[in-house]
Amino acid sequence: MSRYSHLISSPIPQTEPLDERQVLNHAGGYGYQIDIWKRLERFLILGSDSNTYYQKARDLTRENAACVETCYKEDAARAVDTIVEISSNGRAPRNSPAIFALALGVVNEDVKVRQLAYNRMPRVCRTATHLFEFLKVCAALKKGWGRGLKRAVANWYNNKSVDQVAYQMVKYRSRETMNHSRAIKLINTAAFGYPERVRLYNWAHGKDVETDKLPQIVQGHIQAMLAENHRRVPQLIRDYRLPWEAIPTEVRRNPEVWKAMMPSMGLTAMIRELGHMTEYGAVGPLSAEAMMIQKRLTDANELWNARIHPFNLLVAHAVYRSGKSVLGKAAWTPLHQLTGALEDAFHLSFSYVEPAGKRTLVAVDVSASMSVPIMNSPLTAAEACAALAMTVMRTEPQSIAMAFANEFRDLGIDKHTSLSNAIRKTTDQNFGSTDCAVPMVWARQRAVPIDTFIVLTDNETWAGPQHVTAALREYRDAMKIPSKVIVVGMTATKISIADPHDPGMLDIVGFDSNCPALIADFSRGG
Ligand code: CA
Repeated sequence: MSRYSHLISSPIPQTEPLDERQVLNHAGGYGYQIDIWKRLERFLILGSDSNTYYQKARDLTRENAACVETCYKEDAARAVDTIVEISSNGRAPRNSPAIFALALGVVNEDVKVRQLAYNRMPRVCRTATHLFEFLKVCAALKKGWGRGLKRAVANWYNNKSVDQVAYQMVKYRSRETMNHSRAIKLINTAAFGYPERVRLYNWAHGKDVETDKLPQIVQGHIQAMLAENHRRVPQLIRDYRLPWEAIPTEVRRNPEVWKAMMPSMGLTAMIRELGHMTEYGAVGPLSAEAMMIQKRLTDANELWNARIHPFNLLVAHAVYRSGKSVLGKAAWTPLHQLTGALEDAFHLSFSYVEPAGKRTLVAVDVSASMSVPIMNSPLTAAEACAALAMTVMRTEPQSIAMAFANEFRDLGIDKHTSLSNAIRKTTDQNFGSTDCAVPMVWARQRAVPIDTFIVLTDNETWAGPQHVTAALREYRDAMKIPSKVIVVGMTATKISIADPHDPGMLDIVGFDSNCPALIADFSRGG
């Protein structure tokens, strides 16, 4: 081969742009910039309050805030619709990014944007905790209590029934320095002329009111807080369906209190309190309580109705199994029955997916940058990917999983591997530099037939001698298969390895609760 033909046919390394559409990533490699709407999705689902391997949370948040502003400018209605849709359908593990994005709308200079954001605020701020967080973000963005904000807060309270407001007041009493008294201070309660409502608001303000005329749940809460004999509390919980926030702190270690609460407890609270309930002896091996929790955790309908997010179940599973709280203040001996139920719940919590029936390779990036915890959780990006890989393996009958950094490693997992084993295998793997083209190169060299490559990564690829799109083209040509690539992004950056001009490549957001459905749909599509 002459020197010229070699030069013309040698591949372009990832440290150089493949074409003028590529931009520099954080690792010194080149990838494609995702559009602002895709980035908005990434931000709303993954958030930006944890440092990534390459970026501080503060810088990542500034970048994403700028993206949200651009979305408002380009199409405010679409921006607000996206925020409401992802928030209210439970597609994101946490609501804070949606609250932040909405607050950016209420400080927008354009009155039409502000109006849109205010109008949809109750759809995003569904609990008082969300409302308080929203008010705190508004204050941090230097937003005073103008007419628009006052009206929005008044509507939040007044469009709920008195019983609904009472429940919010008892269950979500305060968050940091914000509480109901402060929030409704500026609402003119006298104007409404409904005595029950005015009485409730006055009670929240700490004024003297006729307590026997307050809503039932508030009466139960007051009796529980004043009860001199703590043995009365479990009965009050049963009579008034009190949540744990409504009872005195001193009785919270009493197992009878938790047993009384369990039948009416929301699934979110139950999942969060499993460790405490085990620690306090409210649930023991094969007890009626353990059976009830197991039954509820494995009820797909209940999980769906409560919008329990898979990532939160994954974290709950990891924390419960570890036998201690994240901050280490509480310790318990985990019950295998409940660890197993949490694992089942994790798989059940994704919406049901019809398998695409394609030959699928799930490739998990385990390079050094994936060893950083994500979304303020105890799990690293690579560990979270292992869990996602398990859901794909359980959906697609013909699938294999591998790990890669700058070379291939067999992950040694199949659809029967337990969640904790799959995670452990990934934890042990962290190695080296990043080349996201490894899955395609490996499959071509061994002539492994693959219809769909699923690459779970932070998209910070740089170490490869050729680009992902070039490796994919070679694979398609050599194998005569129109293979697709689905890139599952695990950080809220602006880069993807997926070429937006290639209809056979798709970029989706890691831990979107729709992930498996999006994967199967694209994989199946013609
Ligand atoms: Ca990396």
